[in-house]
Amino acid sequence: MESREENKQDKPLSLSINDNQSTNHATRNNSLHLVNVLQSITDGFFIVDKKGEILFWNKAAEKMMVKEPGQSLVGKNIWDHFPELSALKEHPDYLKITEQNESIRFREYFPKYKIWAEVSVYPSEKNISVYFKDITEVKRLRRLESLEREVLEMNANPSNGLHTILDYYLASIEQIHEGMICSLFRVENEHLYNWSSKSLPERYLNAIEGIMIGNNVGSCGTAAFNKEKVVVTDIATDPRWADYKDVALREGLKACWSFPIINTQNKLIGTFALYYKQVRVPAKEEENTIERAKNLLLIILENKIAQEDIRLSNQRYDLVAKATNDIIWEWNLETNKVVNANEGFGKVYGYNPEKISANLATWKKWIHPEDFERVVEKRTAILNNPYHLYWDDEFRIINKDGRYYFMYHKAYIIRNESGKAIRLFGATQNISQRKEDEALLIELNNRLKQRADELAASNVELERFAYIASHDMQEPLRMITSFLQLFKKKYEDQIDETAEQYIYYAMDGAERMKKLIIDLLEYSRIGSNKDSFEEVDTNQLVKEVIAVFMNRINESNAVVEVGNLPSMNANKTQMFQLFQNLIGNALKYSSKEPPRIFIEGKEEEKQYLFSVKDNGIGIKPMFFEKIFVLFQRLHHKNEYSGTGIGLTVCKKIVERHDGKIWVTSEPGVGSCFYFTISKSVINFR
Ligand code: ADP
Repeated sequence: MESREENKQDKPLSLSINDNQSTNHATRNNSLHLVNVLQSITDGFFIVDKKGEILFWNKAAEKMMVKEPGQSLVGKNIWDHFPELSALKEHPDYLKITEQNESIRFREYFPKYKIWAEVSVYPSEKNISVYFKDITEVKRLRRLESLEREVLEMNANPSNGLHTILDYYLASIEQIHEGMICSLFRVENEHLYNWSSKSLPERYLNAIEGIMIGNNVGSCGTAAFNKEKVVVTDIATDPRWADYKDVALREGLKACWSFPIINTQNKLIGTFALYYKQVRVPAKEEENTIERAKNLLLIILENKIAQEDIRLSNQRYDLVAKATNDIIWEWNLETNKVVNANEGFGKVYGYNPEKISANLATWKKWIHPEDFERVVEKRTAILNNPYHLYWDDEFRIINKDGRYYFMYHKAYIIRNESGKAIRLFGATQNISQRKEDEALLIELNNRLKQRADELAASNVELERFAYIASHDMQEPLRMITSFLQLFKKKYEDQIDETAEQYIYYAMDGAERMKKLIIDLLEYSRIGSNKDSFEEVDTNQLVKEVIAVFMNRINESNAVVEVGNLPSMNANKTQMFQLFQNLIGNALKYSSKEPPRIFIEGKEEEKQYLFSVKDNGIGIKPMFFEKIFVLFQRLHHKNEYSGTGIGLTVCKKIVERHDGKIWVTSEPGVGSCFYFTISKSVINFR
């Protein structure tokens, strides 16, 4: 006997058929009626004499205890016929019944019948009436209820991990329902993972771990996929197990009923399954247990998952708060207390945030007097406006060493139902370094601007000087040339050949000087040229430039080909100078072959691109940059005349049109000069 519960009944019910041998007709009728009643009740009832001989046995008792119904037990000895009941003789109240005729009621588990029975025994002088009823279901329900209470208590204790609770709960259900094997699987990204399945064989669990849910993926895979319960009573024949039955059958698992666990947000979180080693249809009481277990599992899982989420998010918050250089804080506006501040708060301000009251007086002490009013005004306006979700500001705050630091504060505002700000969650950043850098940058910019202004002024001065100088120098030069001519004319007969050569050199020098001065004048004019931009038809302009060189072109049999050039906004005079210098050089630096010159131009997204290509002597790559520097020449004046100013003028013009100039060339083959003119230059500078 596994368990025993007793309940003595004070008021014995006296009933015995053989007690009274009355032959009275009415009494016999009554007894007959009583027998009929006792036969028809659903609880078991029998009468034995004190030796154990069975005197009466009702149908319900027969149904519960006799294997072959219809067999009459009357006259048989109960102890001989039901040896399993002989244990009752050990019952502590056995003697009370047999010797003291006391009524007894007790609850007992009868393993042979697999039932819990509530037994009431009513002894009389000679006989004993026994009344019993099957309370297995009531008992199971009680155990289930107390298990549920126990599990809920475990769940309320945060030190109990989810696995401990699940393992305990499912193992206890298995004890309540003999033969039932419980299994709980978690569904994640449409795959199944074991959560708690202590009684399922390891080999089976390994085989199904991580399988993808789907139609016909066993009971759990299908239940999860369709979010509907799947009751498979025979794994061997059910099509939903076709691909998995071998794995289950080799472990002796023959039936599996699976129930999806769906949370309150209609999200599938797992499957609760019951396996049996027999082909089985769920019994009513099993369905009841399953329903209750499903609901309880949902509570536990949702609660623990939520707890885990909170734990992880707290952990993340703690790590972030530790890792960040920012000060993170929460400010309760109703109590004016700063709560949950990270370590940074104390480090910077030197106060324990929980000990101070963050009221206006404290603010006044902390905030720089120049910032205080502005900060308070802005903050008040934001907090009072229920549509504002954030407050942010930059201001100076005094730290524990009495130094002011520039801090940037940004906080999320929590409001109550009526829109009143009740909390601020914020982060504060020390931006002093940034502020210092900003100030330094502003100062540097100012200095740079000043230098640029000074440079511009000195450039203007220089250009003015160059202009005046070159202009004024022409006069004495003219005097030198004309007096040398006069000298030559007057003393022609008296001077020898050497003197004549000296005069020639002097005049040639003066001539070169004149050219230099003219070029320099041209160069200095670019800066002082006040002509504004206009629409320039470069086709027409290049034609005019070519006309200037007509004689040279004819003399050298040169060919000049011009493509279709774009019109553009530019300074016309300077464009003329630019093309004149480039075409002039292309004609001048020609090889033995007659010059062939190609002029092309096209419009691009942000600029115009031009090229002047020749078949002349070419330039070595090492001089590609040098040729654009003032007075830089690659040849002696005897080879090719020139002053070394032309390309410098080109560069200056192009740069004044926000463009670039460069050359590609191969000595002996030819050169190509490219330049761009920006479209975005609208004012002539
Ligand atoms: P200049 O022609 O008065 O010497 P530039 O500034 O126009 O001065 O040119 C500088 C130097 O670049 C020239 O001396 C010459 O050596 C070289 N150069 C310019 N254009 C060409 C060209 N088309 N082919 C070869 N060399 C060139």
